[in-house]
Amino acid sequence: MSFCVEIKNELAELKTKGCCKTSLIYGFALFGRSFSAKRICLQTENEKTAKSYASLLSSVYGVDVDIRCGGGKCPTYIAEVGSEFDRLKILASVDFGIYDKSIYNDIFYRECCKQSFIRGAFLACGHLSDPNKSYRVDFYIKNEALAKEFSLFLAEHLIESHISKCGNGFRVYIKKNEMIVNLFAVMGASAVSLKYIETSVIKSFNNKSNRAINCDNANINRTVMASKKQRDAIEFLIKNERLESLPEELKKVAKLRMENPELSLKQLAGISPDSLTVSGLNHRLKRIMEIYEEVKKIKE
Ligand SMILES: [Zn+2]
Repeated sequence: MSFCVEIKNELAELKTKGCCKTSLIYGFALFGRSFSAKRICLQTENEKTAKSYASLLSSVYGVDVDIRCGGGKCPTYIAEVGSEFDRLKILASVDFGIYDKSIYNDIFYRECCKQSFIRGAFLACGHLSDPNKSYRVDFYIKNEALAKEFSLFLAEHLIESHISKCGNGFRVYIKKNEMIVNLFAVMGASAVSLKYIETSVIKSFNNKSNRAINCDNANINRTVMASKKQRDAIEFLIKNERLESLPEELKKVAKLRMENPELSLKQLAGISPDSLTVSGLNHRLKRIMEIYEEVKKIKE
């Protein structure tokens, strides 16, 4: 089950307080596509959302709401008020009116009602991306004026969002992880929120350890390069019969390097028979490199 389905399931099944019911319906109505005398319906890919919308309208207005399921692989659920009489009944009770370019604030009695409105908006037109891929919540909104108002409304709840054009409409999107977590808190999605935070913590931990691995790889590359140069120099000295004439301590280090091409300086010092320090070993290897340079110069 995707995170988006999970959060919608959780939000759809939350208990709604009496004072919040109209605000929740308002969220559905304003951000769903159809709320007029001709048609009152909600189309959603989430079955529980369709059921919650239907039972909300039935309980508040005493109307019948049908739920149908269409579509093949990706089913779509349509909750619709079939009778015109019922639709008019709802519209007569909706004294706030549905003007689709702004948010009618007088409808909200308390803070909880505003939060329910945001929940309705998310259920009607919201989408949560998989946190394993990206941190993102999108609200698909039909016009720019409403998108701007909604973005401000979210800002009042300390949720930072942005707006972009999307097809014929607009998209209000949230892309910061902590802002998404704020949104969950405002909507009351505590179970999914915990799981989401867990996933994002694991993801950022993995990112950090990937960076550490990259860093290790860079160190390994440096070790390999340095070892290769040293071994080339030693082989050159052997070929030119100069190694045997070197002081004993340099010969030992040359042998050590040739026998352990993959080891870093530190590791090499660790296994050196004379218990060399890293800087002692480094000094001897540098000495070998200098002799190599001198011999090479003469040979050229
Ligand atoms: Zn309320």
